Amino acid sequence: ALDIGHDLGRAILNARTFEREHELVQELRALDNYKSQLIATVSHELKNPLTSIMGHLEMLESVPDLSGITLSSLAAMDRAAQRLTRVINDLLLLSAVDDPNNPIDPVPVDVHAVLEEVLDVNAVSAQRKSLTIRVETPDEPVVALGDREELDRVCANLLSNAIKYTPEFKTVTVRLAADGDCVVLSCTDEGIGISESDQEQLFREFFRSTNPEAVAQPGTGLGLAIVKRIVERHGGHIDVESDLGKGSTFTVTLPAAPETSAA
Ligand code: ADP
Repeated sequence: ALDIGHDLGRAILNARTFEREHELVQELRALDNYKSQLIATVSHELKNPLTSIMGHLEMLESVPDLSGITLSSLAAMDRAAQRLTRVINDLLLLSAVDDPNNPIDPVPVDVHAVLEEVLDVNAVSAQRKSLTIRVETPDEPVVALGDREELDRVCANLLSNAIKYTPEFKTVTVRLAADGDCVVLSCTDEGIGISESDQEQLFREFFRSTNPEAVAQPGTGLGLAIVKRIVERHGGHIDVESDLGKGSTFTVTLPAAPETSAA
């Protein structure tokens, strides 16, 4: 009888702990929701006045006979406003891909075609650093199931990071392959690499490495947070392997589309 009483007591205690844990999870979810909504609202509120500031700046810059000091001051304001625009656009995108009420409408997407476009857009910045971009893709199309624009963003972010964090004259290799019911995209660079402790934080909003070589590059620290959210809401995952001073490989695995025509 004592044992039964003891077991019952434990069971009640366990149930209470479980209930409390459940409540805590609910509270955390509510807080996370609140945070996402706050980010979305603040970003929207900032966007309109910023658009107005940029319009006025453009107008002022076209005024004839401005002094050198006025022109350089306007140019500095323009750069700051553009940086702010990038941060706000990234925050808006982050909250859009984080919103459970805004799910993707998946269609077959030819990832090879997306990649070609992204390579095209990044060709100039790669050339500027005399980087070799190697592309390894099969001859047949590699078709994922997802949102074309969001997958474009994934490819663009990984490639532009590889270019940004790799010194001159090195090679960046992009590989695309179909693997059973998955599509695997990887981007390997011979760049500055990422320390193990940084690797753990890489996908957090606003994380930027304190490695001086990384700090020297411009950025918002939102790119990889966006990439991770996009990949995960597609039902995929992202992994990183890196050696400090040697280079990094980011690998994205996405669900493949069943055999149909691609968008
Ligand atoms: P951003 O590049 O705008 O700072 P990201 O979210 O894309 O933001 O990346 C976060 C951080 O991860 C970067 O600041 C950089 O320190 C590190 N990082 C990302 N990609 C690479 C890479 N290919 N090589 C080395 N470091 C990288």
